[in-house]
Amino acid sequence: MPSEKVCPDCEEPLERMELQGTSALGSLSIVAPADDGFLSGIRADEVLAPVPYVCPECRRTLVYAEE
Ligand SMILES: [Zn+2]
Repeated sequence: MPSEKVCPDCEEPLERMELQGTSALGSLSIVAPADDGFLSGIRADEVLAPVPYVCPECRRTLVYAEE
């Protein structure tokens, strides 16, 4: 696991937010061609999904790309 993410302003540990279905962030996801075997021909840097984290102190939201 990567090191814990913290708020750049108050250095509080960020809380991960789960995406509920499709959202505004969904447009950032990269969809692989269905005829490519889905898991077989995809490079790791092509399946990064944006994951929002929120600071419990200042409610600042930061989005990180995760595998
Ligand atoms: Zn904060």
